[in-house]
Amino acid sequence: MSAIRPPRPADCHSTPGEHQAGLDCPVHCLATAIPGPAFRALAHALADRYPAKVPAVADLLALYHAGELARLPGLSPRSYAGVRNGLHAAGLITRHRRPAAAGRAAR
Ligand SMILES: [Zn+2]
Repeated sequence: MSAIRPPRPADCHSTPGEHQAGLDCPVHCLATAIPGPAFRALAHALADRYPAKVPAVADLLALYHAGELARLPGLSPRSYAGVRNGLHAAGLITRHRRPAAAGRAAR
């Protein structure tokens, strides 16, 4: 009878690399798209950011589009670049989109 329920892992029964990672996928579905060191740095940074849940791809994208991803503690510029390239490779972002770009109406 604990007051705090354990985080329910995002359900994805696919093996990383065998499917297109979607927004509801846990971040680990991007493990094959993002270089190992960058992915490990990202996983640690997200664990600090979201201590109570398994971060989903949607959470990662929200941070990216808010311009917060580059400022996550523990995520070096090189790791950030690796993550961004992985997101692009997975078709989740476009290369021309810049984080925290001002002026665009769409969020
Ligand atoms: Zn998945």
